[in-house]
Amino acid sequence: MIIALSGGVGGAKLALGLSRILKPEDLLVVVNTGDDFEHLGLSISPDIDTVAYTLAGLANRELGWGRHDETWSFMETMEALGGETWFRLGDRDVALHVERTRRLRLGESLSAVTEALCRKMGIAQRILPMSDDPVRTRLLTDAGWLDFQEYFVHRRCEPVVSKLEFAGAAQAKAHPDFLAALADPRLEAVVICPSNPFISVEPILAIPGVRDAMIACAAPIIAVSPIIAGRAVKGPTAKMMTELGLDASAGSVAARYADLLDGYVIDHADMSEVVSIDARVTLAQTLMTTLEDREALARIVLDAAAVLRRRRTPRGQRHAAAR
Ligand code: GDP
Repeated sequence: MIIALSGGVGGAKLALGLSRILKPEDLLVVVNTGDDFEHLGLSISPDIDTVAYTLAGLANRELGWGRHDETWSFMETMEALGGETWFRLGDRDVALHVERTRRLRLGESLSAVTEALCRKMGIAQRILPMSDDPVRTRLLTDAGWLDFQEYFVHRRCEPVVSKLEFAGAAQAKAHPDFLAALADPRLEAVVICPSNPFISVEPILAIPGVRDAMIACAAPIIAVSPIIAGRAVKGPTAKMMTELGLDASAGSVAARYADLLDGYVIDHADMSEVVSIDARVTLAQTLMTTLEDREALARIVLDAAAVLRRRRTPRGQRHAAAR
């Protein structure tokens, strides 16, 4: 069994690659919900939806979000009525949010609703929200504290970020199936997908008990760098790193995960960084343009994890030795 930690676009690409080479029951994708928000009366979970649409083969590759067979009557009518249109919602996409909202209001958990909707979309793998409790990423910027979607979509990531917080994380409970999977002796690897560390992966790590369970887990933890040659493939990862006073590099992302990592996959373009990374580094083509790229990178990650399983110093011992 493999656990993949994922945000939206970058994470979903590798999750799709993994889904094509693993048996469906062997992949658990644990997804960030710090981007979730309530908008127009709807409960929206952007990262869960990106992963679900991707695994279902419904993702809009051009836009990088939403569904591919989309129409926009809802948005057009909202615009004509003078309603809020800064967060684009396609007609088919709206149906998912309406149904999720209805079921959440009836008292179902986010994970139960996600599971049911994923099944209806024909997804055989398990997509699990990191928690059923609300966690909301907020950013301190030169325009003050902003809610995540206000920053990300409405202001197009333009404000300069100086700090992040994950409101609700300290009170949230990690999903019990996530913790159980980390403790499962059948677990073969935890893959940290090439997602934005600050807004996609760290909200998951901020939930009490998650880091400890990862440190204690017997399987190797291996991450794929979301930074290639100092740049993000998409989104504000590199911009945020610079604003937070970090070097925008594959190595600085590894340093964020330092105590967790056994292995790290970086691009051939970043070969010069190998020496500075405190994990077993694998060089690969990490830009996933085609479906074959996604599958090939997934294979490289799983092969690297297999090597780590054979050679690994258990995480606890390694850090004890370092002390
Ligand atoms: P978001 O929640 O939609 O922003 O998605 P993620 O956090 O999952 O993904 C954003 C990150 O994915 C960015 O840092 C990108 O650089 C990275 N990314 C996107 N596509 C690729 C790719 O093909 N290869 C790698 N290595 N990273 C990618």
